[in-house]
Amino acid sequence: MTDFLQLPSLKTLEVVSDGDRYAVKAEGVSTWIVCPLCKRGRLYGHGSQEQSFQDTPSHGKPVEVFIQRRRYRCQGCGKTLFEPVADFDGKRQATARLVAHIRKESFTKTFAALAREVALDEKTIRHIFDDFVEEFEAKVRFRTPRILGIDELKIIGDYRAMLTNVERKTVFDIRPSRKKEDLLPYFRTLRNKDTIEWVAMDMYAVYKQIVKGTLPDARIVVDRFHIQRMANDALEKLRKGIRKDLPARQRLKLKDERFLLLKRQHDLKGKDMERALEWFRQFPQLGEAHALKEGFLSIWDHKTRTDAEAACTKWLANIPAELSPTFKDLTTAVHNWHEEIFAYFEQPITNAYTESVNRLAKDMNRMGRGYSFEVIRARMLYNAKARKDGSVIETVEVDDDGLVTTNFEFQRMTMASMNQKKRVKRVVEYGPYIPTLVQLLEEGYFD
Ligand SMILES: [Zn+2]
Repeated sequence: MTDFLQLPSLKTLEVVSDGDRYAVKAEGVSTWIVCPLCKRGRLYGHGSQEQSFQDTPSHGKPVEVFIQRRRYRCQGCGKTLFEPVADFDGKRQATARLVAHIRKESFTKTFAALAREVALDEKTIRHIFDDFVEEFEAKVRFRTPRILGIDELKIIGDYRAMLTNVERKTVFDIRPSRKKEDLLPYFRTLRNKDTIEWVAMDMYAVYKQIVKGTLPDARIVVDRFHIQRMANDALEKLRKGIRKDLPARQRLKLKDERFLLLKRQHDLKGKDMERALEWFRQFPQLGEAHALKEGFLSIWDHKTRTDAEAACTKWLANIPAELSPTFKDLTTAVHNWHEEIFAYFEQPITNAYTESVNRLAKDMNRMGRGYSFEVIRARMLYNAKARKDGSVIETVEVDDDGLVTTNFEFQRMTMASMNQKKRVKRVVEYGPYIPTLVQLLEEGYFD
């Protein structure tokens, strides 16, 4: 008969099925020859102890292994120790294969469901998962970006800070919160942070404080769509204010004009143009505000920072007094974030991935369903396919002693001794590729 457990270091003695689980009595098959602690003492028997370990489920039922584990005492160092059972995990009351099973399954099942399946408590599942994350982060390191993006991502009801590599379109990391007290220590200890030359962000004061405090040489660029959106918001605010005071029928009409007014001037054609002009005749302020919005957006038509700044100064001076409250939020932001807004003209960071990030944000927030933030984070960051798509092969020159002589990380390599420099290839990981993550989302991988 084949052994029930089929584990090389254990022999099954008896299997009892009591309905919803298996209880397996087993014994160890190996022993120590000399004391493994002092490497020389002889061991002699020192009683035994009953122990139990969870194993991978069998036929859909949890399995618990019971063993009367022999104990030894060393004549040399005097220490006591148990007989070796290689198939037991050193840290958990579980077999090594169960720990491997939990690591794998914790990416697709909730901790609660997994705890029920293998008859361990949820806390143990969490510890095993945490060990996995820790090992992974020690082993796989994403190269610090040159242009870092900071975005908001709502996951399970809370805003998280998503750090991206703008040039590579990859996710560099996801932090559990966007609070200063959480991000500050993270950025202080970020490895190779000198690599970061530019940081693209929304106008969020906390981010600016963190960058100024921890990355003094990095320069900040405000996402231009974020500031441009504020011009549209100002116009919207005015439209809603006007609408409020209109008779019912007209109010209804102006309600539908949101998109008409948000259109760029050069996109207003034919009937749209007539309708817009009709509103502007009726409410001259709306026409003025629309022109101001257009004027503000056209600042970005300029090619140089100097020209754009001059256009902005002119624009600010042309705001009529009666519209200044409407545009107050925007003008305040322009004042407080001047440097970061116009840095765009030196480093025009594209928004090529913004749409994908928004999409990710929406879908990630919809998920949850018993997953912890840490699991969602790990599933995004460690996905093998997305990571592969986000990595590049780099050729580096190494000395004859194996020391990498090109930039970034200096790394010793074991190579045959040679007299000249040798070129070797290696994989550099930048993090999961955002378009691949979006594709995986669409395929239901994260459901
Ligand atoms: Zn010993």
